[in-house]
Amino acid sequence: MTSLPLVFDAPRRGLPPRHLADLSVEERRSVVTELGEKPFRANQLSRHYFARLTTDPDAMTDIPADARERLTGELLPPLLTAVRHLGCDDGATRKTLWRAHDGTLLESVLMRYPDRVTLCVSSQAGCGMACPFCATGQGGLQRNLSTAEIVDQVRAAAAAMRDGELGEPGRVSNIVFMGMGEPLANYRRVVDAVRRICDPQPYGLGISQRSVTVSTVGLVPAIRKLTEEGLSVRLAVSLHTPDDELRDTLVPVNTRWKVSEVLDAARGYADKTGRRVSIEYALIRDINDHPWRADLLGKLLRKHLGPLAHVNVIPLNPTPGSKWDASPKPVEREFVRRVNEQGVACTVRDTRGQEIAAACGQLAAEG
Ligand code: SAH
Repeated sequence: MTSLPLVFDAPRRGLPPRHLADLSVEERRSVVTELGEKPFRANQLSRHYFARLTTDPDAMTDIPADARERLTGELLPPLLTAVRHLGCDDGATRKTLWRAHDGTLLESVLMRYPDRVTLCVSSQAGCGMACPFCATGQGGLQRNLSTAEIVDQVRAAAAAMRDGELGEPGRVSNIVFMGMGEPLANYRRVVDAVRRICDPQPYGLGISQRSVTVSTVGLVPAIRKLTEEGLSVRLAVSLHTPDDELRDTLVPVNTRWKVSEVLDAARGYADKTGRRVSIEYALIRDINDHPWRADLLGKLLRKHLGPLAHVNVIPLNPTPGSKWDASPKPVEREFVRRVNEQGVACTVRDTRGQEIAAACGQLAAEG
């Protein structure tokens, strides 16, 4: 296992040209006016993009042809091209590898469940957080994604669901920022993307904030900032172990912000929003799956978060070449039982996409 440096600041290269989904409603109006068009054209464009889910100028017959060409050229530049779709779980899971305008690769995963449809989105191409068990982390950070590159993953998935590409037509109901990247290291663009995803149609994609999860390695100042945004998204913290000694290696950013600081920040978020925090725990055989760690995790979470914590155990999805593996099922069951015994909610996340390299970042790594 190589150890990579932590990278907080992404290179400035490669961000795409300005796009409608980068802009607030007011900004859209002023840009359209600057382009010599009436402000209401901004609403028409928004309706096409965020409600009809289209970027095809030919479908925009309510806008005169010359204005249409100018407006789509300026505000709807093509952002993402699907390179490959990979399906599994009897068609209930589909992973898409996207190529951005500069050749950068990124992925999103659409998962259909009986009661919901979840899209896992990327917030960066690559990741600078260097977690050794994560394929993306091992590949380093290429660049931040723009707000619109994040939003466009959701628009494309919403269109695919509407058009029945994953079975019966349906709606994307949930968004998780658990694809490539550390969302809170691309803070402004991610928060803007959340607003675009959640603003009511036709100004945004109309998905409920309560159905959006932002997952972080634990960037404490950014968690505190997010607490003040007035959003009601769910926060997930990738803890993976309750002790600083091991966490310094599993989640290298722990060398900056310790377990107790991360949990304090998470508590602040939970108090402000009234929402339970998800504690993510990738269970790795003989590394972090010991009974004493389960007990310590339970005690620590009871102390810091009490009923405001929910532990999500994720069986490790081994990355190519890794010596690590998931824990045996009896060990996993005992781990969950011990956390529960401390009065802390704990469940095992169902694993999707095993056979399509859906462990974070694997597809782009092979791409
Ligand atoms: N950077 C953010 C979000 C992206 S990863 C974060 O770390 O929270 C989403 C979740 O998948 C994180 O909890 C991450 O630790 C976990 N993960 C990454 N690689 C994994 C693997 N190989 N097996 C299981 N979980 C993994």
